[in-house]
Amino acid sequence: MSARILSGKEFAQQIKEDAAKRVEEIQSRYDVTPGLAVILVGDDPASQVYVRNKDKACAQVGLRSEVLNLPTATTRETLLQEIDRLNADESIHGILVQLPLPEHLRACEKEVIQRIDPAKDVDGFHPVNVGRLVTGEPGLVSCTPAGCLRMLELAGISIDGKRAVVVGRSNIVGKPMANLLLSRNATVTVCHSHTQDLASVTREADILVAAIGRPRFITADMVKPGATVIDVGINRIAPKKLVGDVDYDAVSEIAGAITPVPGGVGLLTVATLMENVVQAAEMQLAKRS
Ligand code: NDP
Repeated sequence: MSARILSGKEFAQQIKEDAAKRVEEIQSRYDVTPGLAVILVGDDPASQVYVRNKDKACAQVGLRSEVLNLPTATTRETLLQEIDRLNADESIHGILVQLPLPEHLRACEKEVIQRIDPAKDVDGFHPVNVGRLVTGEPGLVSCTPAGCLRMLELAGISIDGKRAVVVGRSNIVGKPMANLLLSRNATVTVCHSHTQDLASVTREADILVAAIGRPRFITADMVKPGATVIDVGINRIAPKKLVGDVDYDAVSEIAGAITPVPGGVGLLTVATLMENVVQAAEMQLAKRS
């Protein structure tokens, strides 16, 4: 049996089309075009590519985007001042600080994230938004796990009552993913590097999410036949070769559905960011009107 391939491109396109419609609704209702501000400190080439992709996606869905490129030597004070300025700017509905920050600013990463107004925190990293997710209140959710959930929903894969296993417990992927699945009534288990007999846990999963950062770590013997396997991992194993955390060739023989890498979850992340900017704008404008 060969698994259904969940194409990130197809679902990302649907998410962006939905976002574009909501942008039009906002424009006709409030005469406002939602705006995203991205702060990029330094000249890290990978970060520059990510920021360009976000800028391009904004143009596709009709959002306004501003990139603030600050020099590598930017001080903590200047960065915080820029965030304060954007927090106060009513034409900006979403703020994102591209991570990682240069070495000298790493120690204040948490402070930087927490300085962003939670209403504009489109990365969903602010503790207020994390708290809202855990308590089931409306808020902004980290883009990668939110994109995975949207993809499951768009693909018609039922979550309610299913056994879900998330391997990885990072604050940006594993934990929010587990909370999202729980919010949709899955029975959720979270695994990590201290989990004993991992394969016996992952084999229970109807929905298995791998967010580990280890190439081809999830092998076919760890997967229940027919399971939905979502591979969040992005691992560069050669200059031009990316693989996921799942042994795709072998696992796609037994899974019911699987996301490829590349071409899977990665594409959903940017699309979901667009959706978060729209959601942030809708919430801010409804509050102001
Ligand atoms: P982190 O390094 O923050 O977390 C990795 C998690 O995997 C940790 O919880 C760790 O456990 C767990 N882990 C490590 N080794 C094992 C093991 N042997 N057995 C079980 N669990 C293990 O990574 P992220 O969550 O940030 O990212 C995970 C992957 O997803 C990476 O490949 C990253 O590049 C990719 N990614 C992709 C995105 C996309 O857009 N597609 C976005 C973000 C990330 P412990 O907590 O015990 O250390």
